[in-house]
Amino acid sequence: MSLMGWESRSIDMWIGIDDTDSPHGMCTTYLGALLARHLEESGMEIRSLRLVRLNPNIIWKTRGNAAIAIEVEGNPDSAFSIASELIEELADLSCETTNPGLVLCEESRPPAAFAEEAITGFCSIEGAIAACEDINARFALWKNGRGIIGAVAAVAAELSDATSEYLVYRDANLHTSTRFVDPVSLRLAEEMTYPGTWDTCDPENKTIVCVPHTPDPVLFGIRGNDPVWISLARNLVISEASVLEAIFETNQGTDAHLIHGSMQNLEEGRSYCVPGTVTSPPITGIGGHVTLRITDGKDHLICMAYEPTRGFRDVIRALAPGDRVYVCGSYKKRSLNLEKIRVLSAPPGRVVGAPLCESCGKKMTSAGRDKGYKCRVCGTRSREPCISYQERRIHPGWYEVPPSARRHLARPLCRGEPVFWDPPQDYSREDYI
Ligand code: ATP
Repeated sequence: MSLMGWESRSIDMWIGIDDTDSPHGMCTTYLGALLARHLEESGMEIRSLRLVRLNPNIIWKTRGNAAIAIEVEGNPDSAFSIASELIEELADLSCETTNPGLVLCEESRPPAAFAEEAITGFCSIEGAIAACEDINARFALWKNGRGIIGAVAAVAAELSDATSEYLVYRDANLHTSTRFVDPVSLRLAEEMTYPGTWDTCDPENKTIVCVPHTPDPVLFGIRGNDPVWISLARNLVISEASVLEAIFETNQGTDAHLIHGSMQNLEEGRSYCVPGTVTSPPITGIGGHVTLRITDGKDHLICMAYEPTRGFRDVIRALAPGDRVYVCGSYKKRSLNLEKIRVLSAPPGRVVGAPLCESCGKKMTSAGRDKGYKCRVCGTRSREPCISYQERRIHPGWYEVPPSARRHLARPLCRGEPVFWDPPQDYSREDYI
């Protein structure tokens, strides 16, 4: 492509890319980081590099449903051709499910509502193309072009709550899953910077979370509140040599995928926060998966705490009929996969039993149906039962799955109370304070 006559046209623009990887290799975040470097090397100025996670329930995703947006100042023709060439060169186009999309917006960005829908629900390829045409954005599709959805969503996203991720990459041709990242240094990095960073390790389950086991170029990634914390942690990590490193601004750890729901309006493939009351004792089934049933008085909802959520299942098992909860997670196959739960009330269990005899102090026994109690030693009778309260193993508050089972978008409790918190109308405000 000839750039004659265009070199001096330098503007602020947004570039979005998605769907460049396959289960056999590559990663859109890597391609994005490399694209940012190429743009910089060609004299452009990178203003921001964003990693936007989209609806985690999308069936077309390869891994974490990530898309990349780059805000850059430079020549748009040159930027578009650099991005297109990089996609041609690096995207795993041989894989049937890799369908890249690229967008470049000059004048304005697509509406934030498009990104909201892509994060919480479902968008179409036609909708993404229309969003590009509405703002005169240039775009390119490869194969069926599904990646244009993520590309448009990435540039449209308003990150009202944002965190950071420091991604360290290895050679993209190393298609092995074995990586050398010193676990001791990772644990130290977590200890020194938590809760400024999170999900590097899962101390309770003694696992490393930030090193993938898939054949992609990510060596490890450190998540945290801001670039300072993640850089501090990154500098403590000892690993094999990296080929590329980048800091992304991201919607990870923000609960951006959760919407308020009620049992009457849940849609397959969206993620919700739903209030309810426990109806029956939780059941541990085959494989260690725990089933919790709740109701809103009219409808019922089955909630699942799957085996990988490990110790979180003990929280669910400790719930009892009558406890009031607020459950959060993805609604799939007509059940809600729990990510976190707020226990609103878990009153002590009321136990009704036989009293002690007032005359001789021995335990009385039932005198028969509706006849009260009788002391078998001295014959004293009593109508009043003994009422005691059983201490509960669970108390009101928030509980979450461990780091090893956490979704990219789920906000860890170490970041503070969930911000989406907006009491549903059928509960009084006091319930939530
Ligand atoms: P990578 O992180 O490397 O990009 P991935 O796990 O993000 O891999 P993709 O290969 O990008 O997965 O596949 C996800 C596909 O689903 C993309 O084509 C993207 O445009 C599309 N997609 C994402 N969110 C939605 C949505 N809400 N509705 C419809 N399509 C979506």
